Order: sequence, then C-alpha cells, then structure tokens
Amino acid sequence: MNEREIREQIALHGQSLFNRGFTGGSSGNISVRLKDGILVTPTNSCLGRLDPDRISKLSLKGELLSGDQPSKEAFLHQSIYKARPDEQAIVHLHSSYSVAVSCLADIDPKDVLPPITAYYVMRVGKLPLIPYYAPGDVELAGAVEEQAVHSRAVLLANHGPIVSGPSLDHAVNATEELEETAKLFLMLRGQPTRFLTAEQCEDLQQRFPS
Ligand code: ZN
Repeated sequence: MNEREIREQIALHGQSLFNRGFTGGSSGNISVRLKDGILVTPTNSCLGRLDPDRISKLSLKGELLSGDQPSKEAFLHQSIYKARPDEQAIVHLHSSYSVAVSCLADIDPKDVLPPITAYYVMRVGKLPLIPYYAPGDVELAGAVEEQAVHSRAVLLANHGPIVSGPSLDHAVNATEELEETAKLFLMLRGQPTRFLTAEQCEDLQQRFPS
C-alpha cells in the first residue's frame, strides 16, 4: 500500500469507528508507521470526518513534516512504536465500555480483563492498566512504553485503550474485540461465569502465536 492508500484507509477506518459509536466528538486517534515517518490523525479532528490530505505526517523523531498539527496524544503512539518495533499501526479510542472498565476500583492492574472468548485471547491477550495521568502529561509516555514492551494493548485508567497491530486492519480489529469484551465483562459482572482456563489460553497461544 502506498502512502495515499494508507491515508485513505485511516480516514475510512476512522469514519467506520465513529459512525458505529466507538468514539465521539474529536476523541480518539489513529496512526500508521511508514518507512520515513508516522501518519497520525490531527488534533481536534473528528475520526468520522478526516481529510486524508490533512492527516499529520511526523518524522520518526516526532517533528511535523506535513499536514495539520498532530493529535496531542501522538507522543503515546511514538512510545508504543519504540517499545514494539514490529507493530505498524495504533488505534486509541475513548470507547464507552473500555473506559467504564478502566474506572472500576476492583480490577487487576496487571491484566484487566479475564479471558472471556478465544478471539479476545488471540487478538488482544494481556491488558495492563496504566495509572491515571492528566491529558498531555509526558510521564504517561514512559509508563505506556514500559507496559507496551510486554503487551499489544494497554488501558489508560479513566481514559481509554491503546492497541497496536502489525497492520491498520489488525489494530482496528483488536480494538473492536477489546471494546466488545469490555462490554461482555460488564454484562457478566455478578453472574457466575466460566472464563477460559489457563490451559485453554496456553493452547490458543500455541495454535495462533501472535
Ligand atoms: Zn485519549
């Protein structure tokens, strides 16, 4: 895919996520790593109405090369690309069910969601919780980078998920899987539930290594 096609893909995915209520207003951001930089959605842009030509292009060091000013959360994307050299795309949403789970007092910060379905285990896996930081706090970058080394997805407390993938399609699919699993988790709270066992999760990791 050339850069033009990638820009169009970002706009299409943004529109699809926005239209289905995965993130509202000007929240959420998407990025894709290129050979010569990073494309990231602009600050104050609505994912439902992205102009492919105005998507920000940053150098690998983070300087703006072209397009509008990047999202204020672009530094989080850079931290994850640094921690995960094989990942090529990142999606960050303020999606309701994941945000709701990120506010719960009794979740396990090492791995927030239990293994409810096989597809969650295969597409997302472990989900560490990053403690709350105010928007734009640069210390958040270090906390995210540290956890992203071990995990494709992280959940920012009282904020939302950030998910990386080897392609934009992968990152979007994994983000949607995470949001649906957060919804199921909330639906099941208080009900006696069978989650997948440790053996079943291990078996999945062997059959479908990520
Ligand atoms: Zn955010």
